Amino acid sequence: MAATTPSTQVTPILRVAIPAPLRRLYDYLPPAELECQLISGVRVLVPFGPRHVIGMVMSIETTSELRLNQLKRVSRIVDSEPLLQDSLFQTLTWAAAYYQHPVGDVFHTALPVKLRRGDPCFAEPEIFYSLHPQCCIATAQQHLKRATRQLALLQFIARQTSGVTSGTISKQGFQPSLLKKLLARDGYLLATKVNQSFTAKTRLALKSNRQGIKLNTSQQQALNQINKAQGFQTFLLHGVTGSGKTEVYMRAMEPHLLAGRQCLLLVPEIGLTPQTMQRFEQRFSCYVVSLHSGLTDTERLHAWRAASSGRADIIIGTRSAVFTPMPRPGLIIIDEEHDGSFKQQDGFRYSARDVAIKRAHAEDIVIVLGSATPSLESMNNARRGKFILLGLPDRAGGAKSPTLRILDIAQSQLEHGLSETLVLRIEQHLNLGNQVLVFVNRRGYAPVLQCKTCAWISECDQCIARMTVHTRPPELHCHHCESKLPLPHTCPNCGSTDLSTLGTGTQKLEEFLKLRFDKVPVIRIDRDSTRSRRRLHDLLDTIKSGNPSILLGTQMLAKGHHFPAVTLVAIVDADMGLFSADFRGQEQMAQTIVQVAGRAGRADRPGEVLVQSRHAHHPALSNLVQLNYADYAHLLLAERKTGKMPPFSHLALFNVESPEREAACRFAVTLAKLTQQQQDPTVETLGPVPAPMEKRAGRFRLHLQIKSFNRSALQRVLRAVCKEADQLRLPTKVRWSLDVDPTEML
Ligand code: ADP
Ligand code: ZN
Ligand code: ZN
Repeated sequence: MAATTPSTQVTPILRVAIPAPLRRLYDYLPPAELECQLISGVRVLVPFGPRHVIGMVMSIETTSELRLNQLKRVSRIVDSEPLLQDSLFQTLTWAAAYYQHPVGDVFHTALPVKLRRGDPCFAEPEIFYSLHPQCCIATAQQHLKRATRQLALLQFIARQTSGVTSGTISKQGFQPSLLKKLLARDGYLLATKVNQSFTAKTRLALKSNRQGIKLNTSQQQALNQINKAQGFQTFLLHGVTGSGKTEVYMRAMEPHLLAGRQCLLLVPEIGLTPQTMQRFEQRFSCYVVSLHSGLTDTERLHAWRAASSGRADIIIGTRSAVFTPMPRPGLIIIDEEHDGSFKQQDGFRYSARDVAIKRAHAEDIVIVLGSATPSLESMNNARRGKFILLGLPDRAGGAKSPTLRILDIAQSQLEHGLSETLVLRIEQHLNLGNQVLVFVNRRGYAPVLQCKTCAWISECDQCIARMTVHTRPPELHCHHCESKLPLPHTCPNCGSTDLSTLGTGTQKLEEFLKLRFDKVPVIRIDRDSTRSRRRLHDLLDTIKSGNPSILLGTQMLAKGHHFPAVTLVAIVDADMGLFSADFRGQEQMAQTIVQVAGRAGRADRPGEVLVQSRHAHHPALSNLVQLNYADYAHLLLAERKTGKMPPFSHLALFNVESPEREAACRFAVTLAKLTQQQQDPTVETLGPVPAPMEKRAGRFRLHLQIKSFNRSALQRVLRAVCKEADQLRLPTKVRWSLDVDPTEML
């Protein structure tokens, strides 16, 4: 073999993104034994400090700032082809720059845990079970008379036109042993190995079961507009609750699915609305996968592979599903686009809605944002013509929109937070055989425990916040740092036994409602009562039975559910949003009230919504009753404009924290100085100031707000500040982070 002289050959250098805190890339030499061509977009295993980590090759270079003999070698190249398509790779690179977050960590966040650890991205062949062609169900019924579960499983498999995996079978609640027993019987089941990489043959013929639903005029007009769009376009589908938005999503998906393209649907919390998944599965005979936090790492990887290989036709998922690869993308939909859960609040602080829009742009496809209460950002984008506004002003299928009324409780005696008028209305609705929904935005028994002798109150020693009283088990919980203490019987300060609770949480209200209405079930739905998914499903099933009952709960009840028997919605306390420290307080209050109200009267029985308030004449409330959401939103937008707040300006928030207040202060001041040194008159620096929650989980917190009317100026300053801050030696225990377009300023 002819030897090449090293001097004439340029050594390629791999520039690698690594999940590490600094905003930079790291150079490596190729592995000692190179078996394939060097390309970017593949994962590599590299030595990093004392560890080995999985990184992503961003580019192949010919020079490095370091000398060649200072560079380490890549230990292993994991993928033989780029892991993600170009469009997704670009979207992630854009997101890293936009959110000023280390690109290695962005890729890390975007991938399923198993891929972060270096698992292969291609899939093992999977086994699909279907009914054996010779199996006769009638005969099987005779044979399996005594094995009812086996028969049930056989019947389930028989109903699936394209076979099912053992995963799907166990998700339906069948024990693995049942499948084994059926397989052991001759001529019942057929097991087929299917390679998971997409081939035209494995594709099913798409069937859409429209269930006889005929679109109404507004739905049809919205659909026509969406169908007409060519290439990238953002639509804002503003439809009142129950107006048939989901129906429009499904119809908009049809042509894409027929043409073999994939559709991505992002939803706030899939675990809460298992109906969503079922609706899409019942409508389309195609492969629907879901991606959400309830999956195991293996399930998540399977779903990711199904999407990435092109096998999955519909992908339904929560926030991080926005990063799911799709080789044949057709349409992206974001349901409840205003929902706070689309924003990640730690680590890589991205907005899945904004990333999705960028992604649709990179894919050159249509994206639809749907909501009954669109965010002010989206309303404004529609007004500016950046988004096309589609309206569904009426409820579908003849249901009437509920009437909203404020109950002035400024002078009322309250019993556990409820006025007598409200209690009587609840009684009347129950007597008519209906269901009532009571909304309280506080879980636990009561928000505070107080000593009547010395005025001691239950504060968390790790946070500047009160600890909530919980009764089962009797404990104090801090909802900010999750610390817990046994419920004291005597005052820790003065020893008095005269302790009492202040305010009302869901548990206290449950206790009261159960006593007051002892003939109907009281179904409490909050984070504590639904720790297990099974339990949540059971509770939702009880509600669906339609029998008179009281549903009591937090935000969890407000999201997307369809409760046809609910005719009264009672909002116990509307006042929290009125005086919020956060500039989004009123927007969020209005969204919550309108969404909760939307659970009333969704079927043939008309609905009523009662909102208790001590400030019934506050314009923020009275306007909400008198105006529709769009007009209300425009009022709020006008206020934001006057106040020069987003979306009329752009915000970024530095958060600096440390167990020592002084250390956090000093570093926050350093960051402020760095910002001012950029000397950009269009960029305003506010602070540093103590965060509204000044101490959390034992750490003091400071905020530095950066604001500008000019997005690119803001970006430039943030980039420069982050770059310099990365060079600084961070004092021990000081941590800092940056949130671009923050949605929570606590
Ligand atoms: P949204 O997503 O806006 O809350 P859905 O799509 O869930 O509304 O629709 C609410 C209910 O109305 C569902 O039961 C749905 O099947 C029904 N529905 C939707 N569109 C129509 C229509 N055009 N005609 C009759 N019923 C409809
Ligand atoms: Zn005391
Ligand atoms: Zn705490």
